[in-house]
Amino acid sequence: MTQIEAARKNIVTDLVRKAAKAEGVSSKKLLSGLRDGSIVIPANNTRHLKKPCAIGKGLRTKINANIGNSPFSKSIREELKKLRVCLKYQADTVMDLSTGDNLKQARRAIIKNSPLPIGTVPVYEVAVNARKNKIPFHEVSLDDILEVLESQAADGVDFFTIHAGVTRRVLDSLKGARRVAGIVSRGGALLAQWIKKNRRENPLYENFDRVLAIAKRYDITLSLGDGLRPGSVCDATDKPQITELKILGELAKRAKAKGVQTMIEGPGHVPINQIEKNVALQKRYCNNAPFYVLGPLVTDVAAGYDHISSAIGAALAGSYGADFLCYVTPSEHLSIPTLDDVKEGLMAYRIAAHSADIAKGVKGAIEWDRTVSKYRKSRTWSKHIGSSMDPERAKAIHQRSKTATKDVCSMCGEYCPLKISEEL
Ligand code: SF4
Repeated sequence: MTQIEAARKNIVTDLVRKAAKAEGVSSKKLLSGLRDGSIVIPANNTRHLKKPCAIGKGLRTKINANIGNSPFSKSIREELKKLRVCLKYQADTVMDLSTGDNLKQARRAIIKNSPLPIGTVPVYEVAVNARKNKIPFHEVSLDDILEVLESQAADGVDFFTIHAGVTRRVLDSLKGARRVAGIVSRGGALLAQWIKKNRRENPLYENFDRVLAIAKRYDITLSLGDGLRPGSVCDATDKPQITELKILGELAKRAKAKGVQTMIEGPGHVPINQIEKNVALQKRYCNNAPFYVLGPLVTDVAAGYDHISSAIGAALAGSYGADFLCYVTPSEHLSIPTLDDVKEGLMAYRIAAHSADIAKGVKGAIEWDRTVSKYRKSRTWSKHIGSSMDPERAKAIHQRSKTATKDVCSMCGEYCPLKISEEL
């Protein structure tokens, strides 16, 4: 029985109980969200997740960190170090986006060492297998794809990104769209290539019921990928993006009917003034399924700082109702992230998610700020620093103030307005 099916029977599973406790909400709330599709709990039924999380309506905004090796950087040990950074800086989920030849070993090592839900994009493994077999991607068969899904499911993957919405109709809509950046999703581009070369429909779309059958057997959550997401703010909210979004909404409906949990992936690159509309459209077309946004970046001109340009978009998207934020690191568009990049990306997204939670009125969010502000006002340094988001960094910076008195820091010194107003 999947979590949705159990919820329909009003059964509180151990997983629901654990996720509700971690979230500080009632199991009843999660059951209701699972039933109406507004909440998911990504957890493969062969795993016993130490830190499961619920994602969706009325819950704390969650963050995902992408790790994974590449053909140019194959070390599994390095990826496990990144996983430890993800744990230390409190990601809620991790996606293994490995594309090195040893991706299967990398995935298994990451799953084995992760107390958090793990997601993948299975079509990457299909592409790596094709590369190893020296065949072009468009020659892979439906069976090749389903075999990968089955083997990743058996390995314990908790959520799959599936680009089933990249259909012939969506690709046709690209023709008149005059996009600046074209297709920027790896999975989307591979499937577009398969469709064009074979002059056939997307095999994941045509055989979505078979995808659902595998997802259902392992209770894997489907993250319906936006293969046509805008990769430039100039392309945001265009016809291909919205045509695909509507298809994802239909697929989510079919999944829900079969008892399979789904969330919807979203853009990408979106100007600030279009973010609210993007969230509203997703909620409308996808029947309030959790919205998993990749940023969005609010400008294309800040390479090297894309964790910041995307965290601005993520904070806004979260405040308008996006449920799940996929982090972006400073390496975005430039290189595979380093350990430091993973940390920088995560901290940017924790700030974005928490800021969104204040705006959403999530229980406990603003109380944290009130506590820190009180310690800041009284210059109770150990508590101010200790209760902040990254005490290690705050402490290291504050230590530079050692020449100042205990009462003030080296920023304003004797002109410390907090001290002056206290004396007043
Ligand atoms: S000196 Fe300035 S920065 Fe430092 S605690 Fe006082 S007001 Fe804040």
